[in-house]
Amino acid sequence: MKLVLERGKERSIQRRHPWIFAASIKTEDGRARPGDTVEIVDATGIVLARAAWSPESQIRARIWSFDPGETIDDAFFKRRIAAAVARRDALPELSGQGGLRLIHAESDGLPGIIADRYRDADNNDTVVVQLTSVGADKWRRAIVGALIKATGCTRIYERSDADVRKLEGLEPVSGWLHGSAPDAPIVIEENGVRMEVDIVAGHKTGFYLDQRDNRLLLRHLAAGRRVLNCFCYTGGFSLQALAGGATQVVSVDSSQPALDTAAANLALNPALEADRASWVCANVFDELRRLRDVDERFDLIVLDPPKFAPSVRHAETAARAYKDVNLNGFKRLAPGGLLMTYSCSGGIGIDLFQKIVAGAAQDAGRSARIVRRLQGAADHPVDLAFPEGEYLKGLLIQVD
Ligand code: SAH
Repeated sequence: MKLVLERGKERSIQRRHPWIFAASIKTEDGRARPGDTVEIVDATGIVLARAAWSPESQIRARIWSFDPGETIDDAFFKRRIAAAVARRDALPELSGQGGLRLIHAESDGLPGIIADRYRDADNNDTVVVQLTSVGADKWRRAIVGALIKATGCTRIYERSDADVRKLEGLEPVSGWLHGSAPDAPIVIEENGVRMEVDIVAGHKTGFYLDQRDNRLLLRHLAAGRRVLNCFCYTGGFSLQALAGGATQVVSVDSSQPALDTAAANLALNPALEADRASWVCANVFDELRRLRDVDERFDLIVLDPPKFAPSVRHAETAARAYKDVNLNGFKRLAPGGLLMTYSCSGGIGIDLFQKIVAGAAQDAGRSARIVRRLQGAADHPVDLAFPEGEYLKGLLIQVD
C-alpha cells in the first residue's frame, strides 16, 4: 500500500519528523491491514519513507525508516533495538543504574515502543515493554527477540495498557512474553536507595524513571530542610530527601497502594531515618488548603503531578490545575524556600509552564527566581526532529 501525500506535505518528512497526519494524505492506494508497513509517497510519486499504517488514528502513519530501500523485518528491529541499548551504554552517567529506559519510542527511531529494564540485586534483568501503536503491536515477536538478544534479560513483561492504545483501535494487553514471574518483588537500586517496582500494577512500566536525576538533585538540596513531597507515588523523591539529610519529609498522594509501597520502600532502606517520614493519603489540592489552614510551612516543596494535559486540547483545564497547585505550593514555602515544580504534560510547553508558574508566584504574593531548569534523565532523550518527545519539564525556584 502507498500513502500519497498532499503537495508540500513531504516537508515534515524531509525534516525527519516521524508522524504523518491523516490531513496530510491525499490518497491511500492499495490494500493493507492495520499496522502493516506502507510506502509514503510524495505528490510526484517519489517514495520517501516506510511507515506503519494506523487507519484508526489521526496519526495515520508512523515512520519506521526514512530510507525507502530499508526493509522492515526482524533484522530491522534487531538493528534499531541494539542501537538504542548501545546509546545508553555510551553514556557513563547511566551506568550502574538499576532502572533504565532502553527504548524511548520516537526518540529512538521506534515509534510506539517503550522498554524499561529493571535490574535486581542478583543482576537479573526484567524488561517491561509497552506497545502503544498498531504498528508496534504487530511486531511484538520481533521486538521481544531483539530485546533478548540486545540485553540478555531473564524475563520480559508486557504492560500495553496505556489509554493511547484506544486511539489505535487496540485493546489493553499485559503478560509475560519471556520467562515467568519472579518469586519475590523486583527491587532496584537508584543512586543508593532501594526501591520496589511493581511492574504488574504500578504506573507506567512500574516506576517513573524519567525523574531519576531530579530525585538525585533533591537529595543534594535536602540537608537540614523540612520537605513536602506532593504526588509522591512510591516515595522516590521522599527517600532521596531522607538520604540527603532532610529533617522531616511529609509525602502526599491520593493512592493508598502507592503509599503502602512507599512505606515498604522506606523499610528496605534501614540506613534512612524512618521517624522523619510521614505519609498522607489525600488529594493534594485539598491537602495544600488544609496545610494553609494550620499555617504549616516547608523549606522545600516538590510538585510532581500526573499528566493534566495529555494533548494541546486539554491545555486550558490543565493550566488551571497547574496554577492552583503551584499557587498553593508557593504559599506553603518558608522564607528562602525552594520549589521543585514539574509538568509532564505533552500539551503544555516549557514557555507556557513558566508563565503559569510565574502567575502562581505573583498571585501568592511571592517574589521568586528560577535557579535551574529541569528535564528528564538521559535515557529519555529528545530527538531534535521530534520536539513532541519533550514532555517532562521542571523548574527549581527559590523564593524570598
Ligand atoms: N514523583 C513520583 C511520580 C509522581 S506520579 C516519583 O518520582 O515516582 C503522580 C502521582 O500523583 C501518582 O502517584 C498519583 O497517584 C498521584 N495523584 C494523582 N492525582 C492526585 C491528586 N489529586 N492528589 C494526590 N495525588 C494524586
